[in-house]
Amino acid sequence: MMQTVRGVHDILPDEVAIWQFLEAKALTIFGLYGFTEIRSPLFEKTELFARAVGATTDIVEKEMYTFADRGGDSLSLRPEGTASVVRSFVQQSLHRQLPWKVWYRGPMFRYERPQKGRQRQFHQIGCELFGPVGPLADAELMAMVMHYLGDVGLQAALVLEINSLGCLACRTPYRALLIAALRQAAAHLCEDCNHRMERNPLRVLDCKRETCRATVTAAPIMLDHLCLGCRDHFYQLKGHLETLGVPYVVNPRMVRGLDYYNRTAFEVTSVGLGAQNAVAAGGRYDGLVEQMGGTSTPAIGFAMGMERLVLLLDRQKILARGMDVYLATLGASAENAGLVLAETLRRGGISVELNLGGGSLKSQMKRADRAQARFTVMLGDTEIEKRSVIIKDMAEGVQQEVARSEIMDYLLTRL
Ligand SMILES: [Zn+2]
Ligand SMILES: [Zn+2]
Repeated sequence: MMQTVRGVHDILPDEVAIWQFLEAKALTIFGLYGFTEIRSPLFEKTELFARAVGATTDIVEKEMYTFADRGGDSLSLRPEGTASVVRSFVQQSLHRQLPWKVWYRGPMFRYERPQKGRQRQFHQIGCELFGPVGPLADAELMAMVMHYLGDVGLQAALVLEINSLGCLACRTPYRALLIAALRQAAAHLCEDCNHRMERNPLRVLDCKRETCRATVTAAPIMLDHLCLGCRDHFYQLKGHLETLGVPYVVNPRMVRGLDYYNRTAFEVTSVGLGAQNAVAAGGRYDGLVEQMGGTSTPAIGFAMGMERLVLLLDRQKILARGMDVYLATLGASAENAGLVLAETLRRGGISVELNLGGGSLKSQMKRADRAQARFTVMLGDTEIEKRSVIIKDMAEGVQQEVARSEIMDYLLTRL
């Protein structure tokens, strides 16, 4: 039997309503803030991700689906969405028409160990905003993500966590301070942390191990060593969030592993997903466009994992919409008349599941239940002769004879 590849799933028709709901909400809500959708290719040159995501990151070193195409070029399936958007921004010389606000959705690919909420083909919705350098943009983007997550109706409480990662100017001396402090505490840190301490000390702050977490509480934090510009940016950001009435907590241990991230970092976490609790993650990356060969342009963005959102959604709120009408027919002439009636109703905007396979009235009523039909319209020889139909309201259980000429009006006033 042919089966899907490990870590890859069909999104079946029963489930797809939830995905469409999440995407439709993104279209609507991001649109309110002036974002339009961009659809990037699913694969790019491997070099793009090596430069944008970082050649020494786990994603690029261990997790990408990389292959040589028939022309010998090294290509990779996209492991995330930002690299392509930045590539597009540079390729189209969009620095001349700022601000540029886009959102994207779709599958990403990483060779990771599959587990609940983490697949090898997974899906993200994300936004990128190019141009504005000030904290107003940061605050607006956070307000937008909270608006979105509030609107889709998650079951768990959401917390917006913010931090400042400083800039190259203030992070360099801080980094040296941090390395010195970590060296002194090395005996209390895990093996991984001992390895990454020199190369990427910020990641040690992020270690999930209890002993490491306890040890780093004494380490210096970036927030205490921000330069004047970074301190002002963070102070203003907090002010804007307060003005907007968006609650937040400052998490000084939230980090990003790469140098082009600067100043604002944020995550929205949800209680109820255990350790893997980030629903959305984002931040400023003022250095990336230039690093990708473009004209230096500030930018900020975020991404959300759709699989996690689907797990957290209050499904009861997303009504799997059934059919408006199940059209039951008895006898050959009724089948023929039913075919025409169904088409007429559909042209009037009413969804109709037409009985396509004979069967008794009883078995057809069962099919009407399965189609979650609001009404069952019944058509037999008697009704054809009287130029009428019987309409049954499936929720109320009552039925009524309705003249053929009245059906459309009857249904439209009740749907
Ligand atoms: Zn700074
Ligand atoms: Zn550790």
